[in-house]
Amino acid sequence: MMLADRTGRIAGSPTMKVTATVDRLRRSGIDVIDFGAGEPDFTTPDAIKTAAHEALDRNFTRYTPVAGIADLRRAICDRYKADYGVEYADEQVIVTAGGKQALYNTALSLFGPGDEVITHAPCWPTIPEQIKLADATPVLVRTHAEDGFSVHAQAILDAVTPRTRGIIINSPGNPTGALIAESELRAIAEVAATRGIWVVIDLCYEKLIYDAVAHNLPSVLADTCPEQAVLCGSASKAYAMTGWRCGWQIGPSAVIAASNAIQSHSTSNVTSITQKAAVAALVGSQAPVTLMLDEYRKRRDRLHAWLTADSRLRCRKPAGAFYLFVDIGDALSPDGFRTSLDFADALLEESRVAVTPGEAFDAPGTIRISYATSMELLEEGSARLLAFVATHAPQTTAAAG
Ligand code: PMP
Repeated sequence: MMLADRTGRIAGSPTMKVTATVDRLRRSGIDVIDFGAGEPDFTTPDAIKTAAHEALDRNFTRYTPVAGIADLRRAICDRYKADYGVEYADEQVIVTAGGKQALYNTALSLFGPGDEVITHAPCWPTIPEQIKLADATPVLVRTHAEDGFSVHAQAILDAVTPRTRGIIINSPGNPTGALIAESELRAIAEVAATRGIWVVIDLCYEKLIYDAVAHNLPSVLADTCPEQAVLCGSASKAYAMTGWRCGWQIGPSAVIAASNAIQSHSTSNVTSITQKAAVAALVGSQAPVTLMLDEYRKRRDRLHAWLTADSRLRCRKPAGAFYLFVDIGDALSPDGFRTSLDFADALLEESRVAVTPGEAFDAPGTIRISYATSMELLEEGSARLLAFVATHAPQTTAAAG
């Protein structure tokens, strides 16, 4: 079959693949504990659902402007003003079908053939794939477990060449949960400003940060390179709204106009009802966000304690997002599971626990465990995982003790 060249360059989302496998197994009656899903297990808060019901009852069911309804664009600006003290005009914002489309609009609007775009790895696989969809080349800068997968400005800047067109930073990061320090982003943005390089930040997990750490990335960019900065955000994780598909892209009005043109010929506006719900999410009480964060924190701490009882499962507590990113190098061996992909497949097959293998994030030898699931399931799934490791992994003195 003659498919377009680009299909050969792009792999389907490996994280979505885990979700699809779990779905298939469950439909065939098999009980699976799902640690793969990158989405909140909480239901969408009631006030948000009520706004959607009202929109429907009022027949708010027609096309809206491509960039989104005026009150939602304003609500997004107001949220960022309240949270970060930064100000944007309405024409600097477009409402998108999730953070994913915000990032995709950004890639298509800013990057093209011959361009290099730097990002950090382990990373969420969509970021490099979207760069490729824009016919540009992703350049991955590795971050390391030893220092909590911190993104260092120098490492990013060392990768800059005359072809560098953009730098994409995801903080809190998926799968590592790491935050970029404001000072590191500032150092990157200062150089980017002088060299005409775009700085894109993926803030999809911005509301899921466990400690009171300075993370005012929008303000850093507003200070250093406002004309070259693009912010991508999402209602998905903060408000438990993954299926509603609502995100936003904020940037210089010319970038947003270009994205508007692209979106106008592809998906047009985000679902009208979703937009009304998102207004309620952004302008309403933020208490549900805090409640969910508190629960994620408890789960993170318990899960970390359970798993690290076996020294072959090495991980730190993440600073943000809702994933434990576990180095399973000591649980692999030439005679047992050679790769994290084999490990994850066997864990699903044998113990009915789904995790995402590190290969998905350009990080072989690791697994990502999502704790966006109930404490009971976390406990049961951890017990299964520990038993699986005890049966299959090579013995170490510490693990045996
Ligand atoms: N960025 C990161 C790092 C993500 O993990 C995700 C979703 N898994 C997104 C963006 C996009 O999510 P959505 O499109 O649902 O907003």
